[in-house]
Amino acid sequence: MNKKIEDPLLRIISSFGIDRIFAEPERIIAGKQEPNELSDERKNNSIRKNLKLLRADVGDCMKCKLSEGRNMLVFGGGNPEAGILFIGEAPGSNEDRTGLPFVGRAGKLLDRILNAISLDRNTVYITNILKCRPPNNRTPSSDEVSACFWILEEQIRVMKPGIICALGASAARTLTGSKNGIGQLRGKALAFMGIPLIATYHPAALLRSPALKRPVWDDMQKMRDLLIDLGLPRKTEV
Ligand code: URA
Repeated sequence: MNKKIEDPLLRIISSFGIDRIFAEPERIIAGKQEPNELSDERKNNSIRKNLKLLRADVGDCMKCKLSEGRNMLVFGGGNPEAGILFIGEAPGSNEDRTGLPFVGRAGKLLDRILNAISLDRNTVYITNILKCRPPNNRTPSSDEVSACFWILEEQIRVMKPGIICALGASAARTLTGSKNGIGQLRGKALAFMGIPLIATYHPAALLRSPALKRPVWDDMQKMRDLLIDLGLPRKTEV
């Protein structure tokens, strides 16, 4: 009889049929610790209240030059209580205009990918590594990531998701600390802040290369199995 593995991290590793995590050592060490705690005065608040307080802390952030060119800061959207977090790279022009994540063509495709595993924006939370749009959608610089990353870490501390999905190389590399491409990072058991992490191709890459649909489908099957195993999405009142 299969013994039930309690630790979600060990469960994801065993579900990949491998016996070790393929992320950079320093990230693993970070992942082995409990996610840092919230400050005492926020510990007993609801997730939604703490996310609102965090949004207020971020305010009209000017920590990097991207603030000069942005229309809207894109904090994130969806259901923060459901326990499933998708992380993209950075807002594009539609997101910069509306203040919402993944609302352009890539976002429409992401909706279809979510639907394929019985998810939607009421059962996941979606955000990005960067909260402001880089000019011409260029790849985020390391300075920009350093200035912005505390927001994502705090979002994770607040939401305590049971699983994270990194969309594309930029998110996957930032979260794992690896320099590998997404082709190497996908299909591996990863973790961030002690939380199981799945990496897959960015929906925008799929729009350019339909041949990537197959691997994304495979990744989403794996994700669906893990969701069932982890009892996700959490039941919430939407
Ligand atoms: N691409 C991303 O990575 N994030 C968005 O919010 C939109 C497009």
